[in-house]
Amino acid sequence: MDYTKIVTDADMKNFMNLVGGFHDGVVKELHMVNSAYIEENLSFVCNHKLNARFLIQRQWANPAAVEILAVDVTHFQINGSEEIYSATGQVRIDRNLDIPEYKINFDHGYFTCLKLWYREASTWLGKKVRFGHVTLPYPPKHVSKIIDDNWIMCEQCCETWEPIDKELFQQCPKCDEPHINPLSHEYSKG
Ligand SMILES: [Zn+2]
Repeated sequence: MDYTKIVTDADMKNFMNLVGGFHDGVVKELHMVNSAYIEENLSFVCNHKLNARFLIQRQWANPAAVEILAVDVTHFQINGSEEIYSATGQVRIDRNLDIPEYKINFDHGYFTCLKLWYREASTWLGKKVRFGHVTLPYPPKHVSKIIDDNWIMCEQCCETWEPIDKELFQQCPKCDEPHINPLSHEYSKG
């Protein structure tokens, strides 16, 4: 699915109508990249610019999930992980830069940026992580217990889950304890 660029107020209104203000939605994932970096020789490449990708899932179809691409993020704040009741979008002229700035407010956070795209990502429902896992900073000590051909159990909290991807390392969805997945191909190979 191609990205659609938001330029005008009307574009922003259309987008917010399309996604119903993200009512009954959730910011499932967020990935931010700074174009500035430190070189291997420790010199500073000062190309300061923050770009962000958001995956927002909704309880409503068409689209059930949307990816937002925010380029040149100027402000960003997040205050919680709760569901979205009524997101709003605005296009305004930045007083310092004298160019349009795009603001999306998710109830529990907001961002502003200078360029904004979105695309339907309705196949990106479910718990599968799309932008890269955030795992706890120590290797798994426990092998989860096999319940049947597809389900494993955390021996710390007895939560059971179906690892959708066959990855070796799993994180318990309830207590976050990292586990080795005995159903993974790598594990069965020993
Ligand atoms: Zn657990």
